[in-house]
Amino acid sequence: MTPPKKEPTAEALLYRSLPSMDAALSAVERSHPALTAALPRPLLRDLAEEFFNQARQAIREGRMSQAEALTLEALLPSLVRHIEVAGRPRFRRVLNATGVVLHTNLGRSLLAEEAVRAVAEAAAAYSNLEFDLETGERGSRYSHVEGLIKQLTGAEAALVVNNNAAAVLLLLDTFAKGREVIVSRGELVEIGGSFRIPAVMEKSGCILREVGATNRTHLADYAAALSERTAAIMKVHTSNYRIIGFHSEVGLDALAPLAATHGIPLMEDLGSGNLVDFAALGQPLLGDEPTAAAVLARGADVVTFSGDKLLGGPQAGIIAGKAAWIDPIRKNPLNRALRIDKLTLAALEATLRLYLDPALARRRVPTLRMLLLDEAALKEKAAQLKKLLDASLASKAECRLAPGASRVGGGSFPEKDLPTTLIRVTAAVAPSALRAALLRGTPPLVGRVEENAFCLDPRTLDESEFSLAAEALRAALA
Ligand SMILES: *Cc1c(COP(=O)(O)O)cnc(C)c1O
Repeated sequence: MTPPKKEPTAEALLYRSLPSMDAALSAVERSHPALTAALPRPLLRDLAEEFFNQARQAIREGRMSQAEALTLEALLPSLVRHIEVAGRPRFRRVLNATGVVLHTNLGRSLLAEEAVRAVAEAAAAYSNLEFDLETGERGSRYSHVEGLIKQLTGAEAALVVNNNAAAVLLLLDTFAKGREVIVSRGELVEIGGSFRIPAVMEKSGCILREVGATNRTHLADYAAALSERTAAIMKVHTSNYRIIGFHSEVGLDALAPLAATHGIPLMEDLGSGNLVDFAALGQPLLGDEPTAAAVLARGADVVTFSGDKLLGGPQAGIIAGKAAWIDPIRKNPLNRALRIDKLTLAALEATLRLYLDPALARRRVPTLRMLLLDEAALKEKAAQLKKLLDASLASKAECRLAPGASRVGGGSFPEKDLPTTLIRVTAAVAPSALRAALLRGTPPLVGRVEENAFCLDPRTLDESEFSLAAEALRAALA
């Protein structure tokens, strides 16, 4: 006996109208060969499967009930769109319209074109990374930048590692393991991203000897704390906050003789570490940031600073100072674990070369260029961008220019507002909804919401990105 034949349900019929995965993938390959060629086959299959699972779910939930909407022809455009969107790399470019130049979450510094080219070449070809072309023997990777750092800071010797946090850790591990390091209570800072000076000291195995009070520390406090257990005196440049009011700290000139008589190094973690005098380059607002050269000249034995903050280079930690203190750091086995990679080295050398001429650096290093934009130039940039937005958004939004403030970011110059001209965009949607829609765009555009408007700061957008920004807003408001 054969069981009675059951009529297929409407839902089952709809499932059957879906094209097969292979037919769908072949159709995408035919219509969008460049898209499919750029994606690994297994990824392409996963994306298509995801798409069909979503379609089946839509059928189950009654959101798709027309067989005509399920033919290959009907589904193809949305399948292609799904592959385009969901198949994008996770790590991708964004447009920074926040006006925060060293935005840590958006990748801090952009490299100068010279550095970008150096990275591309080092990435694609063999190099003399650790090969001495004079002798044909093994060479040192540090030799490529040490001379430049010495020249630019006046240091006797220099070393570079993965980042500044690594530089501080390496310094403490080299000189102070199991011994004491004297630091003022006013300088026990947290940098963000859970980098706290006391925590780094603990990790390096040294003992923190706090002196003074949060707002005031005197030379006598340092002197009283010195003992045979002391391994170093450390100053930390409090770049991410300022103590104002009843405040005093002890300068390097006063501390240097104290460290020297005890035969211990006087170290300063500069954090940002700039190589140019901002006041001299026309940005008096940033003028009180000391250069690495000035700090060494004032008596620091060793300084550490970041490659990708004010310097505007790749992520790196630069250690510069007296040769007698740098040599043992170089020999520390931990240095091998924290070592700088060849792409970084290529970018760093190219960036540092630009600094040999500060006027060239200001023109070529994007971080410097953005920080040194003057108010008139920003107003002009804002007007140019507004014109483009007016044309592409038409009646969808209203754009107005308004005075505002940009930030340096990266934990530098916390209290400094750099004057700028903002473009305030108001539309039918709430500014927070517009902000969210822009984050989902291609490329995503990151701006800020201020006083009930979505704002773009032209300081951190390059002119070459204006049309992308206009298109992103147009798409988000469509
Ligand atoms: C930013 C900063 C660091 C950490 O530097 P990275 O290059 O981000 O590792 C350390 N110390 C100070 C004072 C800083 O400002």
